[in-house]
Amino acid sequence: MNDKIERLREFVATISRLVEQTGPGTGNEAALLAGATGPLRELVAHDDWLPDAMARPHPVYYQQHLLYGDPLDRFSLVSFVWGPGQQTPVHDHTVWGLIGVLRGAELDQHYRAEAGKLVADGGEVLLSAGQVAAVSPTLGDVHRVRNAHDDQVSVSIHLYGGNIGRIRRHVYDAASGETKLFISGYSNALVPNLWAQAAT
Ligand code: FE
Repeated sequence: MNDKIERLREFVATISRLVEQTGPGTGNEAALLAGATGPLRELVAHDDWLPDAMARPHPVYYQQHLLYGDPLDRFSLVSFVWGPGQQTPVHDHTVWGLIGVLRGAELDQHYRAEAGKLVADGGEVLLSAGQVAAVSPTLGDVHRVRNAHDDQVSVSIHLYGGNIGRIRRHVYDAASGETKLFISGYSNALVPNLWAQAAT
């Protein structure tokens, strides 16, 4: 029994209140990012609540497990599980997102378009357990993420301003800058039971 699942339940309640008060639209992106950063930092400060099924790596593919999807598609929360050396393609999101590292560490490389080509925007940024970073159409929406470790699993918790698994977005060929339509879906068929009671 996972008796710390209330951390996740409380986070979901906090973000539900935030989108209710702030409004879900992209025009409220700055307020949503500002309001959600502290709670996500608090969530990833403790590595004792994520169900094991949502932290299991796949031998070949990084995993994206839906932890909670807002019924009105205003936000979604996903655990990304990075096996040793695994990485995303270069991709965009089209909505705001926050990345909080729960376990291990990852490397985040941003890109920007320049004369029809993709160029690296700054160097790779190391995100360690407990750290939170943002992506968005305003802040810079195109990046590649990879496990910083070649010999251990890393796990990060991502909050997005929409139902990220269903959004039509893009992957990029880093060399040519060509884009392809991308709908990521989710790896899991079942979501965590946020209402489970701790054994007494
Ligand atoms: Fe991303």
